[in-house]
Amino acid sequence: MRQVAYVDLTNRKVTIKPIPEDLLRKFLGGRGIGSYLLYNHTTKGMHPLSPENPLIFSPGFMTGQFANAMGRCHVNGKSPDTGKYGDSNFGGAFGAELMYAGLQALVITGKADKPTYLFIDNDKIQLRDASKLWGKDTYQTQLGVWDELQDPDVKVACIGEAGEHQVGFACILHQLKRSAGRTGQGALMGSKNLKAVAVRGSQSLPVKDPKKLLEITKRQYEYARRTKIFEITKRWSNLFAWVVNNEREGIVVRNHRANFYPEGYGHLDVDIFLEKYSEKMLACQQCAMHCEHRYEVKEGPYKGLKGEGPEWIAPLHFGALVGNIHWDVILASFEKTNRFGIDASTFGLYLGWLMDVYDRGLIGKEQTGGIDFNFGSAEAMVKLPELINKDEGIGKVISHGADEAIKWLGPKTGEFLYRCGRGLTQEAVNDRILRATCLGDQTSNRGNDHLRGRCNLEFMGLPADVLSKIIGRPTNPDPYAWDTKAFFAMWQQNLNTMSDAMGLCKFWTQWFAPDLFGYEQPLEVINAVTGWDMTKEDLWEASDRIWNMEKLFNVRDGEDRRNDSPPKIFFEPIKEGARKGLCLEPDKWNALLDEYYDLRGWTRNGIPKPEKLKQLKLDEEPSHTL
Ligand code: SF4
Repeated sequence: MRQVAYVDLTNRKVTIKPIPEDLLRKFLGGRGIGSYLLYNHTTKGMHPLSPENPLIFSPGFMTGQFANAMGRCHVNGKSPDTGKYGDSNFGGAFGAELMYAGLQALVITGKADKPTYLFIDNDKIQLRDASKLWGKDTYQTQLGVWDELQDPDVKVACIGEAGEHQVGFACILHQLKRSAGRTGQGALMGSKNLKAVAVRGSQSLPVKDPKKLLEITKRQYEYARRTKIFEITKRWSNLFAWVVNNEREGIVVRNHRANFYPEGYGHLDVDIFLEKYSEKMLACQQCAMHCEHRYEVKEGPYKGLKGEGPEWIAPLHFGALVGNIHWDVILASFEKTNRFGIDASTFGLYLGWLMDVYDRGLIGKEQTGGIDFNFGSAEAMVKLPELINKDEGIGKVISHGADEAIKWLGPKTGEFLYRCGRGLTQEAVNDRILRATCLGDQTSNRGNDHLRGRCNLEFMGLPADVLSKIIGRPTNPDPYAWDTKAFFAMWQQNLNTMSDAMGLCKFWTQWFAPDLFGYEQPLEVINAVTGWDMTKEDLWEASDRIWNMEKLFNVRDGEDRRNDSPPKIFFEPIKEGARKGLCLEPDKWNALLDEYYDLRGWTRNGIPKPEKLKQLKLDEEPSHTL
């Protein structure tokens, strides 16, 4: 029987309840059960930093099982960054350990009266004093917990000082870089005086047909490891995506001044990183792809620096976006964001913005505390994380919401801070002319999001028949064509929702490459583990239900079609390069949005229709079953 634990920090009360099978079939685990619990344990207009806003950890439905890449954990909570639906997903080994401790979900509410950490030791959940850990960074905190519990096998997810100070984009960190990054879940954790969650589990997970699971897992592994993408990722990690996207002019350079970064050639090449910095490759639990670099800087001003990662977001958000060409500066800045518990992605976007408005003369050294914020400034890149962490100077200015920052720095600066309709800072990708990708990203419930809606298959040059076979209906492979793209975006969103609910890493799915996993492979795993007879259609419906559950959260707070809008720069022509002059055309965008809403079963204002909710059995939510 899968269970959920409720921890009320105010009253120091723990309650454990079984999760009804019906609910698991409807929502699975991870992002599914997380979104259900979030909707059911919040009310309209709840302040994101109020003690009542729950912080929910939920491993994927198959996390911890003997199955490929099923190791991820989800975090849900109303977003302190945007005030809307919030969640994030991380790898490592924390999720599996929660499962081994008997928990499919952990719901934390209230606020502790002093710094506290949770220790989940199988069936026992203790609230322990974290006074000695308060003020420590995420690495020190994990070491401190191990030291106190005298057990380095305890898995820890924690916040740094940024989370303690409730920085809007503080993350929750596990190990050296596995982070629940976007939407500020670290701030929510800090607002509860909760420094860490430590977990030790030794229970086995029931499997209905172990022999079959073994056969499935071996077969699926043999298949996956023969794909080209498996070998590429094993060697280069997803850093290769940075090169691919730069080549196709799909990135953001110097805060939208350009979309191609030739200055990076000979400096930010992935092979240079491999030769100079990468020491070995690591993996999350249950994964044979091991895409994670362990790196060390061996010379120069940052000599001795060690860390894990970086992913493609590093050369993008710490390189092209901010006009930097030095790997060591990237690593120095990136490592600090992880150490301090700051979401690296959002950090880069704010840094690019500050450099842009500095370059335009809208702010100067008076505002930056004397720090040089010219594009490419190593000083700014390395000092800004420290200032955010300490909640000081220009770091404090950007730490408590974009609107606050614009108020401090002047309304004119706001014109250059690009945010989507849900208020989330726009990722540094130039997706304005990729139709399915732009639609999928911008209609994502937590805000623009390549991990939810980016349709990578759209720009891989696949033949029409291959793409159509994968998507399941005729699909135009031309990335600039408008027809068939609404369904393509929905297909991608549902596939990614399924992987987040299952605990499956997206690098193993058709989000990443056409010959990787779709619905069939996870379906085989679920049925072998549970003995259910789920079909592909059931899984699709579960994904659709989860997407709508998240949507209902935002709709309850009054969101509508306006929140699905891209940042206004997407409607402006591209300034240079092969696609110069192209932009997102408002009429065509609106028609595409209409088509998407129709496919989703929503009104033209982006609200799920009653019949759609009935079909998905969401018409009685919040049901408060759990
Ligand atoms: S591919 Fe990389 S991120 Fe995904 S599970 Fe494996 S090691 Fe983790």
